[in-house]
Amino acid sequence: MSLDIDKIREEFPILHRTVEGNPLVYLDNAATSQTPRCVVDSICRMYYEHKANVHRGVHTLSQEATDRVEDARLKVKEFINAGSTEEIIFTRGTTEGINLVASTFGNSLCNGDEIIVTVAEHHSNIVPWQLLQRYCRVVLKVVPIDAHGDIMLDAYEDLFTDNTRFVALAHVSNVLGTVNPIKQMIEIAHRHGVPVLIDGAQAVAHRRIDVTDLDADFYAFSAHKMYGPVGVGVLYGKRRWLETLPPYQGGGEMIGHVTFEKTTFADLPFKFEAGTPDYVGVAAMSAAIDYINRIGIDNIAAHERELLIAATAGLMEIPGMKIYGTSAGKEGVISFLVDGIHHYDMGMLLDKMGIAVRTGHHCAQPLMTSLGIEGTVRASFAVYNTREEVERFIAAVKRATAMFRK
Ligand SMILES: *Cc1c(COP(=O)(O)O)cnc(C)c1O
Repeated sequence: MSLDIDKIREEFPILHRTVEGNPLVYLDNAATSQTPRCVVDSICRMYYEHKANVHRGVHTLSQEATDRVEDARLKVKEFINAGSTEEIIFTRGTTEGINLVASTFGNSLCNGDEIIVTVAEHHSNIVPWQLLQRYCRVVLKVVPIDAHGDIMLDAYEDLFTDNTRFVALAHVSNVLGTVNPIKQMIEIAHRHGVPVLIDGAQAVAHRRIDVTDLDADFYAFSAHKMYGPVGVGVLYGKRRWLETLPPYQGGGEMIGHVTFEKTTFADLPFKFEAGTPDYVGVAAMSAAIDYINRIGIDNIAAHERELLIAATAGLMEIPGMKIYGTSAGKEGVISFLVDGIHHYDMGMLLDKMGIAVRTGHHCAQPLMTSLGIEGTVRASFAVYNTREEVERFIAAVKRATAMFRK
């Protein structure tokens, strides 16, 4: 099925604005995606019609708001094919989901315990594990990648020792676009009796996720990278883990009974949702999932793949072009440098032509170090991007390059 992209673009008012007098070409979708009217409308509706605190009021508004949160939980469960709604924890985003697991699972770690991550992780999937070093000397072991940006699976398997306690890795690299073979990597970890957290921030808006088929122990993602609102995300966790882990934060919502001597905790998933949740955001995230489902995630993936292929071919025509990340099945993320041109300068010039790309280390400094660079220019695609925008992007990179070469 071929998508009617013009019709899709009508849903996104921001795509019709100009930057520096040029029509905006928004290619920073890996940082955050834009938001369609139906999601923003859901936010307004919640504020105008149903705003009330959830899970405790007997009054109608509170029950309506509660229903919307619990409907959203069911929607998320189906979207990622989790076993039950009790395994869906609402968070502030990917970062909070990973911190939740690091600090609760981390409670059980001792000196010398090892955590495996990959060299291409986002800082959000490195620093929370390092913070555990305040309590005990956990060791990070790092999986290398090859020249295409693919995980070196043999090296990964070799990292397991008797002290390996946890594996944390991205489903899709936000810099290289590599789609890691996570099903296989989870299987290898499980053979060693080690649980796995997947950072799905860069995957959920671009491919079908089935946490049950993957057998992931934890899977974290953010709404704002999937056409949803900022400030909300999801942590999926297998029930057996969520039942055994201690609470993350304490407060309202997460308790069973409180006395000054002792507190019991609420059942799942509420045990991990202390305080008033962002119920407006959660309802809007549900609207974003409806939006993705209406278009069809496979249609989105096919469209983005077309853009990736066209953009890659166009960039490769430019002398001195180097693309970082050439994995065969990569997602619609292109990191590149043009010989002799600083990524920041390229980004500035593209902005002057209305083109929004990311420049810098993309929250993956260890990866940049391993590549021997400080940063890249990164273009990343979403469903509303067009072939014409890709052409404008290529032309702009050519023009910027020519300006430097003069
Ligand atoms: C964006 C991103 C994160 C962080 O997501 P937040 O929404 O900022 O919490 C983590 N990992 C990857 C791979 C990302 O792309």
